Amino acid sequence: MDWKGRRQSSNIEDRRGTSSRGRNPFGRSGGIRLPSGGIRRSGMSFKTILIIGVIYLVLKLIGIDPLQMLGGGNTGALTGGQSQAERQVTPARQDEMTQFVATVLAETEDVWNGVMKSQGFDYAEPKLVLFSGAVASACGNASSASGPFYCPGDQKVYIDLTFFDELAQRFKASGDFAQAYVLAHEVGHHVQNLIGVLPEFNRMRRSMSQTEENQMSVRVELQADCFAGIWGHYTAQKGLLERGDLEEALNAAQQIGDDTLQRRTQGYVVPESFNHGTSAQRKEWFARGFETGRLEVCDTFNNPV
Ligand SMILES: [Zn+2]
Repeated sequence: MDWKGRRQSSNIEDRRGTSSRGRNPFGRSGGIRLPSGGIRRSGMSFKTILIIGVIYLVLKLIGIDPLQMLGGGNTGALTGGQSQAERQVTPARQDEMTQFVATVLAETEDVWNGVMKSQGFDYAEPKLVLFSGAVASACGNASSASGPFYCPGDQKVYIDLTFFDELAQRFKASGDFAQAYVLAHEVGHHVQNLIGVLPEFNRMRRSMSQTEENQMSVRVELQADCFAGIWGHYTAQKGLLERGDLEEALNAAQQIGDDTLQRRTQGYVVPESFNHGTSAQRKEWFARGFETGRLEVCDTFNNPV
């Protein structure tokens, strides 16, 4: 993707280096997290910090290292829990990835401002939070292991940039347009939130069985893929796509399909548990949005998927 030198979004919230690290090896990609309770406070009062400080000193005196006990901090004690990719990310690479993400976000703003306006809607741009390790959102606490996600409660997309290395290495989906597709998919969830799809899903799922909820979730996810395709359509129109970019996005959709993921991680497939769609479905719906650039083709609720 020919992204360098283009506008970068100012809707980036950088929260890297403010939380503890630690990952498990079974992350997912392309999630939405629906609010499950109240908003967590992320700040600590002076009094709390003081108390923690005192406890720290006491434990240190009796020979226990509290940082090791809490499983965090930048002590290096837990480096075994970090992935290969995480340790390889240099500051220069982080910088470039940050610029890339800010540029792709800006491109989604331009596209969705235009598309929504043509439908008579105002587009409230989402914020994108960069985090490392773990993060607190209005949808609860999350770790990098759960992959990038969108939280409708605070209208923010959350991503740990090390996911991109994971996408290339573990999910076998390399290339900048594969990364852009993941971001555009999460922004697609934001569009769904604005047009009422996510609130409706959140309301309906309370009276659904797990299987019904999974089936509905698949339709929600495929629509986000279709919306990512719409973004791709306009990006191609601007001449920003390079040879192989479309294939990168389609390959990413293929690699993070439920069936492909399950086959890779557990060796067999349980269709009732699918909640994002199969590889074929994800490719199909991305392609529909990409080919037409039209919102109407993304109606995954009134059409067979
Ligand atoms: Zn999703």
